[in-house]
Amino acid sequence: MRTPTELGVRAEAMLAELAAFSDDAANLTRLYLSPAHRAAADRVAGWMRTAGLDVGLDALGTVRGRLKPSAPGRAGNRRLLIGSHIDTVVNAGRYDGMLGVVAGILVAEEIRARGIELPFGIDVLAFGDEEGVRFPTTLVSSSAVAGCLVPSDLDARDVDGVALRDALLAFGGDPKATPTAAYSREEVLAYLEVHIEQGPVLEAEGLPIGVVTSIAGQSRFSVTVSGEAGHAGTVPMLLRRDALAASAEMMLAIEDVARAGQAHQMVATVGRLAAKPGAVNVIPAEVVFTLDIRADADGPRLSAIADLDARFRAIASRRGVSVAIDKFYESPTTPCAFHLQEAFASAAGALGLPDRRLASGAGHDGHAMHHLTDVGMLFVRCRGGISHNPAEHAAVDDMGLAVEALIKAIERLGTDAASSGDRK
Ligand SMILES: [Zn+2]
Repeated sequence: MRTPTELGVRAEAMLAELAAFSDDAANLTRLYLSPAHRAAADRVAGWMRTAGLDVGLDALGTVRGRLKPSAPGRAGNRRLLIGSHIDTVVNAGRYDGMLGVVAGILVAEEIRARGIELPFGIDVLAFGDEEGVRFPTTLVSSSAVAGCLVPSDLDARDVDGVALRDALLAFGGDPKATPTAAYSREEVLAYLEVHIEQGPVLEAEGLPIGVVTSIAGQSRFSVTVSGEAGHAGTVPMLLRRDALAASAEMMLAIEDVARAGQAHQMVATVGRLAAKPGAVNVIPAEVVFTLDIRADADGPRLSAIADLDARFRAIASRRGVSVAIDKFYESPTTPCAFHLQEAFASAAGALGLPDRRLASGAGHDGHAMHHLTDVGMLFVRCRGGISHNPAEHAAVDDMGLAVEALIKAIERLGTDAASSGDRK
């Protein structure tokens, strides 16, 4: 039995090994179905075998390691899924995703080493397409596992024109067998994932881990504001229909509405803006800007959007400009199951840590897995809240505590499952 620090040291060593598998010699870039992904998948499979798991690769390239139940009861055929992803963004850090896979393998090792009896099996999953960088798709591998893969995603092409289905064949997957990757709802107990926070909240509060309440839903819009171009020297201020000044006022409204939604961890961002005609001496006639808005629940997000819609129209009418608001993306909030939050919270308590709950502003494989089963997530503090960056860092002790908390949470789920029989 290893201490949390020993588990953290081992996690760090495994993450360092995985970080060597890159498509780019200069930095860590590991895209879905690339040679580096293949090499990383092989290493993960090797670790799983050493841990005593039955290992396979599913049709979409997800590595699966299976630990049989030690105390099969009525829940004996069911499995608890633990996973995350081993693909990365371009010029990535080594913790995002990989930590959750390494944690799953360490948990399986410890469950065997400690002789922990569980009335269900454990499958450790290493997904391949979470970041959605290579193909214009995302969560393809976890969606297949969850049985909600969109078949046309297999036709997606990367920048070199390679179709996902062809890349999958080269990788060793099987685009014709994608339905076989899906679990049935009856055979799955829950999905658990350990992930770095990718934000600054836990660090600011001096906490190593936190329990995720939901994966934020998000809506994205393209907003077009149309006014009238004019001479910067001759049109008096009161006679202008300045599309950019109107957009600026709308952006302040966005900030205002998002700040008012703080209780729901609401965040709103204007990340892109283009003004036409874009000359120093011409009043802007048209502005197009994007809006990305997220919150920990759908209701507050949707009412903030309705509020913004009304405020944009009021600003536009007062300034004599028009506004068109087009939604181009929406994903609903994924709630984390309350009993899984409680299992993580009691595990944290057993380690002397406070029960801190927080929503995830970033998307995760849990978003797809929610279509299949209950989802639980545990966040690990990361330095400076930095992620998707080579400077990404999680401390050895924090990672060790997360692995230990995951073990304790699973033990509790085992006790619950054993005492309540095969409760669906
Ligand atoms: Zn991730």
